[in-house]
Amino acid sequence: MIPGQFDYHAPTSLDEAIALLTEHGEDAKILAGGQSLIPAMRFRLAQPETIIDINGLEDLQYIREEDGHLAIGALTRESALEESEIVKRYPLLLDTCRVIADPLVRNAATVGGNLAHADPANDHPATMLAYGAELVAHGPEGRRSIAVDDFFIGLFENALAPGEILTEIRIPTPGEGTGGAYVKLERKVGDYAISAVAVQLSLDGERCSAVRIGLTNVSPVPMRASDAEAALSGQELTDDVLEAAGQAAAAQCDPSGDLRGSVDYKRDITRVLTKRAVRKAVERAKGGSA
Ligand SMILES: Cc1cc2nc3c(=O)[nH]c(=O)nc-3n(C[C@H](O)[C@H](O)[C@H](O)COP(=O)(O)OP(=O)(O)OC[C@H]3O[C@@H](n4cnc5c(N)ncnc54)[C@H](O)[C@@H]3O)c2cc1C
Repeated sequence: MIPGQFDYHAPTSLDEAIALLTEHGEDAKILAGGQSLIPAMRFRLAQPETIIDINGLEDLQYIREEDGHLAIGALTRESALEESEIVKRYPLLLDTCRVIADPLVRNAATVGGNLAHADPANDHPATMLAYGAELVAHGPEGRRSIAVDDFFIGLFENALAPGEILTEIRIPTPGEGTGGAYVKLERKVGDYAISAVAVQLSLDGERCSAVRIGLTNVSPVPMRASDAEAALSGQELTDDVLEAAGQAAAAQCDPSGDLRGSVDYKRDITRVLTKRAVRKAVERAKGGSA
């Protein structure tokens, strides 16, 4: 279907974009890669009266390390992450951007759009929850930073205030003895996850000294598997401990049954993927390249 009528603006500065967003309020939508918004408009699930196309804001496309963080401009394309030498030092992030959709989508889709859309089926929310990322927004009141734990507040609902634009994602640079992994099960390449698990952990000898786990597409709102984190924290990561963590994630998630599988199937897949992701993260923390 062809989208309905809308007014189109292409600001050339962040200030101009914020002013337009403030002026048009709830009737306006930001357009980034368009890979979620345009399909939603075609199906008339979204019918904005005004489109504010931010693709001219080239200052929002960057990947750099600074102040103990990886800083990613919100307009950075998935394909740029995949090709970045810096991102190779962030295996959880690299795993994630490689399994989002297909290369055509990844050439257009942006990291900021993936997060701002707040779709529990999208892959970046779980990964940013596992990293404990910080999301930077600019709006009429200036700049503010939002902890990723506070960003996803409902189905397709984020914590951005009226007039705010997501501008940067900040991931703490992992230190020695840390490892991360993203493991996703999809029906076919390019599809959204049946379930997927993002893990970022630190080891102290054989013990897990810190861990964060995010889950994809098994809850109405992107979520952390906090019960699984509790099962792993401070423990030696034996098979029994991993199984307990997998079971905790399966019990805590809240999937709905659909064409991708029943509730029971998705819970069990989440149990299995949690164990696989933790094992892979541990191997990487120990210096392996799995
Ligand atoms: C065939 C197909 C398969 C896909 N498979 C996957 C998949 O497996 N995994 C996955 O994670 N994603 C998948 N996607 C979604 C894709 O990654 C989207 O592009 C992404 O979710 C949204 O990014 P975008 O830049 O295209 O945003 P847009 O579609 O332009 O915008 C999405 C929403 O975010 C808002 N927005 C965008 N940028 C900002 C910003 N900087 N500040 C505030 N609000 C903003 C927009 O107003 C809109 O509401 C798929 C898409 C397609 C078409």
